[in-house]
Amino acid sequence: MSAAKRKRRAARWVYPFGNGKAAGGADKKDLLGGKGANLGEMTRLGIPVPPGFTITTAACIRFFERRGRLPEGLKEQVGRALQQLERRRGQRFGDLRNPLLVSVRSGAKFSMPGMMDTVLNLGLSDSVVVGLAERSGNARFAWDSYRRFIQMYGDVVLDTGKAPFEDAIEALKRDRGVASDAELTAADLKRLCSIFRKIVLRRAGTAFPQDAHGQLWGAITAVFRSWNNARAKRYRRQYGIPESLGTAVNVQSMVFGNLGADCATGVAFTRDPATGEDVLYGEWLPDAQGEDVVAGIRTPLPISTRRASAERPSLEQSMPEAFAELQRIRKTLEAHYRDMQDVEFTVERGRLYMLQTRTGKRTGLAALHIAFDLHAKRVLGKEEVVARVEPEMLVHLLAPVFDPHQQAAAREDGRMLGRGLPAGPGAACGAIAFDAERAERLRADGRSVLLVRTETSPEDLGGMVAASGILTGRGGMTSHAAVVARGMGKPCIVGAEVLRIDEKAGVLRARSMVFREGDDLSIDGSTGEVFVGRIEPRPSEIQSALISRRRAKKPAPRSTLARFTRLMRWADSIRRLKVRTNADTPHDARVARALGAEGIGLCRTEHMFFAEDRILAVREMILAADREGRDRALRKLLPMQRRDFVGIFKAMDGRPVTIRLLDPPLHEFLPTEDAQFRALAEELGVSKRALSDLAEQLHESNPMLGHRGCRLGLSYPEIYEMQAQAIFEAAIAVRRRGVKVAPEVMIPLVGTVVEFDRLAARVRAVAEATHRKAGVRPVRYPVGTMIEVPRACLTADAIGRSADFFSFGTNDLTQMTFGFSRDDVAKFLPEYLEHQVLPADPFAQLDEEGVGRLVRLAVKEGREGSPGLKIGICGEHGGDPPSVRFFHRLGMDYVSCSPFRIPVARLAAAHCVLEERGEAGSGTS
Ligand code: ADP
Ligand code: MG
Ligand code: MG
Repeated sequence: MSAAKRKRRAARWVYPFGNGKAAGGADKKDLLGGKGANLGEMTRLGIPVPPGFTITTAACIRFFERRGRLPEGLKEQVGRALQQLERRRGQRFGDLRNPLLVSVRSGAKFSMPGMMDTVLNLGLSDSVVVGLAERSGNARFAWDSYRRFIQMYGDVVLDTGKAPFEDAIEALKRDRGVASDAELTAADLKRLCSIFRKIVLRRAGTAFPQDAHGQLWGAITAVFRSWNNARAKRYRRQYGIPESLGTAVNVQSMVFGNLGADCATGVAFTRDPATGEDVLYGEWLPDAQGEDVVAGIRTPLPISTRRASAERPSLEQSMPEAFAELQRIRKTLEAHYRDMQDVEFTVERGRLYMLQTRTGKRTGLAALHIAFDLHAKRVLGKEEVVARVEPEMLVHLLAPVFDPHQQAAAREDGRMLGRGLPAGPGAACGAIAFDAERAERLRADGRSVLLVRTETSPEDLGGMVAASGILTGRGGMTSHAAVVARGMGKPCIVGAEVLRIDEKAGVLRARSMVFREGDDLSIDGSTGEVFVGRIEPRPSEIQSALISRRRAKKPAPRSTLARFTRLMRWADSIRRLKVRTNADTPHDARVARALGAEGIGLCRTEHMFFAEDRILAVREMILAADREGRDRALRKLLPMQRRDFVGIFKAMDGRPVTIRLLDPPLHEFLPTEDAQFRALAEELGVSKRALSDLAEQLHESNPMLGHRGCRLGLSYPEIYEMQAQAIFEAAIAVRRRGVKVAPEVMIPLVGTVVEFDRLAARVRAVAEATHRKAGVRPVRYPVGTMIEVPRACLTADAIGRSADFFSFGTNDLTQMTFGFSRDDVAKFLPEYLEHQVLPADPFAQLDEEGVGRLVRLAVKEGREGSPGLKIGICGEHGGDPPSVRFFHRLGMDYVSCSPFRIPVARLAAAHCVLEERGEAGSGTS
């Protein structure tokens, strides 16, 4: 106890940085937070960083252990660090003539919304501001700094909110008849300071603190406390960030970008975050402080001359020395961190200071090029390159895109209308429509359409299908619009709250512009940007190169295509899981192969039934009065199914093709409209009345739990027999032409081994008869089952002894395990996610805790029943990286996903292996 106490007393809470020295290393993020560790790191690299000190995350945790009392020794340690800082700067904290001013910045290990905002210019007071005005010779600067300080401190430490200050500024501007903050004089700003202090007094019930040390401790404890505010807690729960981390506090001496024309502030990436190009990329503002660049009060200027114009000069043109210094620092940082950085800087009287660096967020395209550029410079090895690219980002590489230069030009011309959440990657442009029906009508007129809604619901489905892109004013990343659009592979932006959408009136208002139905907008679902007018999207380089049938000549070694191909090859050499695709047509099968599919994991035969030339025969089959009638219809269907399989077998050229026998309830194929009924009655030579009676009999109150899957197969064995015959005849025909075939027959919705055994026996009998009739050596064909009913998981040992393979149908399994109807879940899932009843949409990311437990059990017992049983998964989850990781760990043989997710799954599977070896995660995540 006393030893522990002594240790605690000796605890070191404060780590200074400055004059080229700082304790700790890059591995200090746990203790110093991301911002603090990197400030220290930059200091050690000899980069100019304003000196300061970091209070550790451990101090924050200790603060809570002591129920809001400061950790033992913290006061003294901060006092000493502050004195050292005063000596370094040659200034005194709270001094009237030469005051030291500081910023107080939170900084957890992971950047986290909800944490306290930064307070700048701390140390100013009614008397200090006068001294600052004199010493700087710039009264306007001094009063502007003070009013910013009161505003920030009031908002984040004293909880006054931002609005009263903003209202006061607006009122003063009106009063003075000026349009911008910049036109306010020193006297105006001085007046504003006294108004602001009154606001604090009224709102917070205490006078604005005048003592610098009091201000400092107020800010430090506010940062500590913000670790435990509701928003931060919710965020941590959502992203699995441990509560025990705590946040660090950075106290840093101020440098001023707002002292005049030789001062500036800005943000930059060490490379172009959109393309990965090796150029400094960013924005700056002359005579401005801190957050002005991102706040959007003034439009910032480009850093590089390439993006500059006469009215919008670059940093390179305006401050060539600071620019050159920034270029040098860019090289130093990249060499040190071995990755692209996102930095903040300030220029004070011509001198450049760095205020922050961190790993920069980037598009998939940029991630690919940055990783390979660093590989070419021998900075990264092969496995690191693979680890650096986030699987999910590959979707961006396959989606349609805007020309980056056109997009940048549109931004600079002020054509960006606003931003929402990037919910479905890819670019689209078109005429806007405010409801589904009009979207469909515009589409029918041959126009490309953007469906614009406050929110979407299942009734909008037709409009979503018709639209090239979807834009909503409300909703999050898992709103109906977002989920459906991603499923359809459509570009989508949700929650664009800056757009005021009035569906009834058919108008969209934003930035004092008004748009009506038929007006053109463009959206970038990868960035969330909405643009006025048309920017024509084009297929991404990879999309066109891989998928178009014309094989291009060998791509240039540094091209996106060559690097993508190489990345995939490397990922393939690392991964253990095989990747198949869900494909129902020869076309999809070809696309999937181009994207690397090693087989078809799910070929849904019913999709073939919906085709226009088939549906009549299908309806005939369903509505046949007797066996004879049904056989007649099936004989019509047989050659069509056979043709389908021939096409698919040829496209897959010897790779396995898992064919699922008919699955959905029959009534899904029935006519819905009167005219369709009439046509069908005519064709069948029966009365319309008799037909609708039959249809009535097929009605089910709960069709997803009704007469479908193997239950249909047992009631109408002739349907499955026809399908089996089509499969084997196709296989024999294709093999005759010298193409290898590997069909796998899959029986859906099995819950008991008896269901499986009965149907498998019929399939085998048909196979034998077909082979005998053709007089050929039998095609090898396993018969397996989909595991998608909870009972199948619970009896997997028995089913495993009978079946040749398992394929988990995780969509149905999720539906049945939760008892959530997939078609109705959108009604309550958004709420579930918002209030954290569930951490993620279980239809998008496998629920490991519940559904996953059944899967684990079935894998284990299935293989106990039959060692070496081949096991895969063919639900939506097969292309979701976290789910892929789970399947990898269970030792499955393959995942199967939609064609466009195949590269994602291949890379995700490689990451699983690298993670096992402890090599992934060094990347951008
Ligand atoms: P955030 O995490 O929101 O970016 P920061 O702590 O990085 O918050 O700071 C907000 C803004 O204030 C940034 O533009 C930063 O560069 C600027 N800033 C922070 N500390 C200082 C300082 N000591 N001198 C000048 N500017 C600063
Ligand atoms: Mg910052
Ligand atoms: Mg199913």
